[in-house]
Amino acid sequence: MFSLDKLLRDNIRKAEAYSSARDEYEGSEGIFLDANENSLGSVTDPPYHRYPDPLQRPLKEVIAAIKRADVKNIFLGNGSDEPIDLIIRMVCKPGIDNIIIMPPTYGMYQVSAAINDVEVKKVPLSDDFQIRTEAVLEAADEHTKIIFICSPNNPTGNSLKVKDIEEVLNKFNGLVVIDEAYIDFSRHIGFVPRLKEFPNLVILQTLSKAWGMAALRLGMAYASEEIISVFNKIKPPYNINGASQSIALEGLRKVLSKEMMVEQILTERERLKDNLQGLPVVVKIFPSDANFLLVKTTGGKAVYEFLIERKIITRDRSSVVLCEGCLRITVGTPDENDKLISALKEYK
Ligand SMILES: *Cc1c(COP(=O)(O)O)cnc(C)c1O
Repeated sequence: MFSLDKLLRDNIRKAEAYSSARDEYEGSEGIFLDANENSLGSVTDPPYHRYPDPLQRPLKEVIAAIKRADVKNIFLGNGSDEPIDLIIRMVCKPGIDNIIIMPPTYGMYQVSAAINDVEVKKVPLSDDFQIRTEAVLEAADEHTKIIFICSPNNPTGNSLKVKDIEEVLNKFNGLVVIDEAYIDFSRHIGFVPRLKEFPNLVILQTLSKAWGMAALRLGMAYASEEIISVFNKIKPPYNINGASQSIALEGLRKVLSKEMMVEQILTERERLKDNLQGLPVVVKIFPSDANFLLVKTTGGKAVYEFLIERKIITRDRSSVVLCEGCLRITVGTPDENDKLISALKEYK
């Protein structure tokens, strides 16, 4: 049986949240002399002299409507980086506990774990980039608190099999984090509609990719109300700044623009793939459910550098496990993709 209470670190269970001025009085009308803000106004236009909503309620309501989730099941972080860090600090005792990741995958899980002095157990994906469920479950010991799953996975681009993810969720008694940063580019709907089935599930999404709001730094975590309340207790009081909240609120009204961009990116992804396939430098293009392609090349780092000389910047993944010779290439505009294709045609 999953018990969040048992999983939490003692200090986190006992900790009391900082009570900010905006927590103690929630009304929006009145003479506000409680937070030592500048009562005269701001040097900026629009003004930003008032502290922002610590729980970002209007923003969460819009996200809840779009994702068909409940506001109570949503936490907003300063990018996905923040919930990744918070969740490790929530349950992992430094120097004692560990997490499991499945390389090749997103680098932040390991970085956050290292900063928190938490051991990382690595159970690589299979050759076809799927979860080795038996090996993962076997690697979990009494100190394993979190298993990180990234689907669609970065840098491989593929979605992991739903039945494998379900098996991990059902058989592991710690937290299972599914990072769905690229879910909008995928044919899958993801796990948000299934939150109620799994008390140990945390889903991460972001406004950085499909929504095109990377600079605003807004990441979502979806989980049980119980888990969300711990996130809220341990987060910095005003973790989402006021400018990000109001600009994102505007941006999220444009669902149609976002969907049109996603369609265009998917069309370009297929065109890019068709054009790269068959070039002498290309060994293999892996199937992608994301806005990038993992491309195995004959030269790896040399190809990366050849492109850099032509001012085309890709991500060199050639030294990553199972990614020998590979570059990760974000789908660009039609013109950018054409320039990439022409450059790669010239690689000898
Ligand atoms: C890009 C990406 C994110 C997003 O990070 P933000 O901090 O929200 O910008 C999260 N996870 C994965 C796997 C990513 O590739």
